[in-house]
Amino acid sequence: MQQAVLYRPDELRVEERDVPTLAEGDVLLKVTAALLCGTDLRIYSGRKTKNVTLPSVLGHEIAGEVVDCAGPLPEGVSLGDQVCVYPLVPCGECVACRKNHPNICRNRVAFGYQLAGGLSQYIVVPANARQNIVPLPGVSAPEAALVEPLACALNGQNIAKVKGADAVLVAGCGPLGLMHIRLAKAQGVPTVIAVDPNTARHQIARESGADLVLAPGEDTPARILAATDGGIDVVIMAIGRVDALTPYLGILAPGARISAFAGFNAGDVLSIVANDIHYNEYEVVGASSCRLENFHSVADLVTAGKLTVADLVGTQLPLARVHEALDLVASGKDLRVGIDPWA
Ligand SMILES: [Zn+2]
Ligand SMILES: [Zn+2]
Repeated sequence: MQQAVLYRPDELRVEERDVPTLAEGDVLLKVTAALLCGTDLRIYSGRKTKNVTLPSVLGHEIAGEVVDCAGPLPEGVSLGDQVCVYPLVPCGECVACRKNHPNICRNRVAFGYQLAGGLSQYIVVPANARQNIVPLPGVSAPEAALVEPLACALNGQNIAKVKGADAVLVAGCGPLGLMHIRLAKAQGVPTVIAVDPNTARHQIARESGADLVLAPGEDTPARILAATDGGIDVVIMAIGRVDALTPYLGILAPGARISAFAGFNAGDVLSIVANDIHYNEYEVVGASSCRLENFHSVADLVTAGKLTVADLVGTQLPLARVHEALDLVASGKDLRVGIDPWA
């Protein structure tokens, strides 16, 4: 089988490997789509090294077909099923796991930089991760692979209590921002406002369901305020820049939540007047990766047709063109770029 192996930063080679053999309880998937995101790029270029074990097979946004299993299949999973794979294996024992934050487990093992990921024709889901396999019939393989970033967005929205909010501001209309807009609408938020300086993204933001789409500017906060009943309930920072928030601090509703959803540059500092938090009962929350339950919720929304994502799939290239695909991700010009290992 073909597999792209990262030996060290910037040294990624497509190689011929044997199809892995299975130990008791392991499940073999034929990979049908592996999408690439900023995390893959940061590992590829050496900017992310934490928990990365090289050589490694990148790709944590994975769809596949169940082709083999050593022993009985996981419950609810059959041979031939299209599935997506929750990419984290938490330890269950560390302080994060004990406090019900398994997604930020201190000892977690992840597909795509510890366990071999999706840039391969086959992957093994080890026995201790077999519950991570989530069936998703009836959509294309890249759509099934989109469950991972969507689940990250849902995790962020749950923490920021988006469901039940009257007005949500999504700052940044990259792929994750667009997913946030769609999820907020799917969860019944009446007013979703999106801001992005790149006007080329405004049309798809509107098509994603945003009720108002603006470029940041002097009158932008006033225009947003006018579209709400007394201010924004949730600001989702879907781009890792502090100025995605600062212009809107004056138009938050009482009890508003601020979600530092994106990753920021090391050392970036968010400044908020302490008394504004105090008198207005603001909440500042984070979000990192996602939980297995988010995978199931998103898969249900997609299956029920409440979340359409096909138009978020960008260019899909064969494994041999993986370098080109990574360059395309870096350019930020496309939507979710991915690899079809069988193309
Ligand atoms: Zn990702
Ligand atoms: Zn843990």
